[in-house]
Amino acid sequence: METLRFGEVTVDRLVKAEGLSFFSGFLLPDSDDEALAAQRPWLEPQFFDGVSGRLVMSVHCYVIRTARHTILVDTCVGNHKERPSTPPWHRMETPWLANLAAAGVAPEEVDFVLCTHLHVDHVGWNTRLRDGRWVPTFPNARYLFHRVEYEHWEATDDFGSGTGAGDGCFADSVLPVMEAGQALLVAGDHQIDDNLWLGPSPGHSPGHVCLYLSAGGGRAVFSGDLMHHPVQCAHPEWNSRFCHDPELARATRHDFLDRHAETDITVLAAHFAAPTAGRIVAAGARCRFRTRAEPGSS
Ligand SMILES: [Zn+2]
Repeated sequence: METLRFGEVTVDRLVKAEGLSFFSGFLLPDSDDEALAAQRPWLEPQFFDGVSGRLVMSVHCYVIRTARHTILVDTCVGNHKERPSTPPWHRMETPWLANLAAAGVAPEEVDFVLCTHLHVDHVGWNTRLRDGRWVPTFPNARYLFHRVEYEHWEATDDFGSGTGAGDGCFADSVLPVMEAGQALLVAGDHQIDDNLWLGPSPGHSPGHVCLYLSAGGGRAVFSGDLMHHPVQCAHPEWNSRFCHDPELARATRHDFLDRHAETDITVLAAHFAAPTAGRIVAAGARCRFRTRAEPGSS
């Protein structure tokens, strides 16, 4: 994804991993092959691999720079963490921090970290290992957690209806931030500054939030895991297997499409593969996702 500009605000994408991912029937248990096939013309090749039948997905963090602040949205998986439930994420060693530096951001320069929710692939770089202890990676940042989300994971590591596993991510990637005094427990509509504010979007997790950006006459929404894959623009009734409250997740997704389809807002989800940025447009009786790279888009 090229750098997006909204007036003086820029948005970059820092990729941890991208490529062939789950089979659709695994990630989206509500889906069916025939309905998916009807969407393939616009999904291929960037979001669906017709040869393997697998979804193409990404794990990434967004770097937002305003005139006053540097903000990270979702911090991927992290290094050296015990993640036996997901072998590719177990004791990872990636150059993520070097990539952040290459994007022009030193850890000391980060003012805010926002986790759209506290699942394992959204909190990892909140902390890093130093002298055998997990410490906040960004020493001058305030970390924003929705209070409802924090209190849920503080009380339980139960994913509800899903089958996901956190592998202790709350203990190694969230709690040390709280203990360091850098966590800010906020409401679901918290305003960060003139350009940025949260919007509640519960369902995938109890306190999932989206981040809204308005600047320079443009708008964007960082939508986290409200949708895991662009096909959910056409089928918002398809939950991921990791959704906590199935009915609430569906209702939130329908509401999101009702409010944002056929508008100018740029949607920036947590797992949409390159070119990632796009808009929700009407396509017959359904919606679909149109990337900014697609001919005819602006
Ligand atoms: Zn995720």
